[in-house]
Amino acid sequence: MARQIQLFINGTWVDGESVTKLTNKYDGSAVAEIHVASKAQISAATKSLAQEQENTTFIAYDRYLVLAKAARKLEEESEGFARTIVEDSGLTITDARNEVRRAIQTFILCSEEAKRITGEVVPISGSPGFTGRIGFTVRHPIGVVCAITPFNAPLNTVVHKLGPAIAAGNSVILKPAAQTPLTSDRLVKLLLECGLPPRRISIIHGSGATVGQWLLEDPIPSFYAFTGSTEIGAHLHKTVGIRKTQLELGSLSSTIICNDGDLARAAELCVNASFRKAGQVCTSIQRLYVQDGAHNDFLALVTKLLKEKKVGDPNLDDSFVGPLITQKETDRVESWVNEAVTQGANVAFGGKREGTVFGPTVLTDVASDMTVMQKEIFGPVVMIRPFVNLDDAINEANQTPFGLAAGIFTSSIESGLKAADKLRFGSVHINETSSSRLDLYPYGGVKMSGHGKEGPKYAIIEMTEERLITIAP
Ligand code: NAP
Repeated sequence: MARQIQLFINGTWVDGESVTKLTNKYDGSAVAEIHVASKAQISAATKSLAQEQENTTFIAYDRYLVLAKAARKLEEESEGFARTIVEDSGLTITDARNEVRRAIQTFILCSEEAKRITGEVVPISGSPGFTGRIGFTVRHPIGVVCAITPFNAPLNTVVHKLGPAIAAGNSVILKPAAQTPLTSDRLVKLLLECGLPPRRISIIHGSGATVGQWLLEDPIPSFYAFTGSTEIGAHLHKTVGIRKTQLELGSLSSTIICNDGDLARAAELCVNASFRKAGQVCTSIQRLYVQDGAHNDFLALVTKLLKEKKVGDPNLDDSFVGPLITQKETDRVESWVNEAVTQGANVAFGGKREGTVFGPTVLTDVASDMTVMQKEIFGPVVMIRPFVNLDDAINEANQTPFGLAAGIFTSSIESGLKAADKLRFGSVHINETSSSRLDLYPYGGVKMSGHGKEGPKYAIIEMTEERLITIAP
């Protein structure tokens, strides 16, 4: 019998109303059968979480203990988790190990923050006639958090939702991406082993169109923590009404290389930031703006680095780029590249495909109105655009509906600060790429890239309610 991945509802592992088959992203072999939740099961799950939230206390110190233990246990099981990520998503083992390393840090941060949730004293005496009155704020758990996550960071993005939800004292229901249920299943089991009260968490599986949609229509969750495409994020926002949301959405990220930047360092970081996870990262560099004087040298450095990289089997230690998530997504990426080439783009490197593996590809001579420049590619393809004046590169980078992250390489503090001032993105990294991220950062986008911040300290603020208390003498 195939491996069964069940649902966790009301403190128990149960079967769903049907099953779907999960296949390996690299070779198409069968991996597991995934139980799919019914509408009634979702309703039972949220009701049970709300009751637990209402009727029990889960004090900050106990939340800290669970999360600190989860960090230690994840460290002990790192290699096993990394292998599960590869099996689940097709990310290379190197990318998977990096993700586990980051998720351990995320749990550590969540455990620390669980003990630091404070309010503030309100200076009431600053208002005339209220001498002697005292005011302060406290933060209360918001209730049931619904976490809906994407396929491209099957562990750390999920920890960035569950960790702060638990740290803040909430119950949480998780729907992972239908393509990557295994890592979330293992993560929920780890949290239970670390002492998380079983009725404080639920995991359900199924497609976004049905199970995801039922979750949005369910009246119980008071908070939706969502990472995914702008299209689904906008739909979620419209559906859940006045309830609070944290939306980490799509992007079209840019990095700018100035003549006076450290080209060798920039090339190395840009190759990693364009192609790690086969480019399936929201902050992956899609538009690479290179100043005229540096263009040829920079391109030579990038292609030299790429020639040394291997692509293919994600299980191998030296694979740099593995498969894309599905055949359909690989077809889409290939068709966008082919379209750009017919419109005049030049393949400076790559452009080759085998099965679901699309090799790292660099396009030059791209026009700003090509699909590869206008829509999020979410694949291992980077477009190089030359520029003369920094203002032009900044203006072009700003000409997208998105605003998640940007980077600039320069040795001029003036250019760096100008870019930081003018680039309308949630993060601007000077001498780092758009894809630079530490898990303690306040991380999130502007414009169509969403709203609300990830990063445990900031997510806890999002996932708690501030209450003002005043005392008259
Ligand atoms: P997606 O298609 O939007 O899916 C995200 C999640 O939403 C999945 O769990 C999906 O379920 C679910 N979903 C789909 N339709 C739904 C509905 N009607 N109601 C409720 N849930 C629904 O995104 P993806 O393809 O997995 O991920 C790629 C996208 O995520 C890219 O646009 C990328 O930029 C973005 N992303 C953003 C960040 C960030 O921090 N800003 C980070 C990572 C990824 P199914 O899996 O069943 O479809």
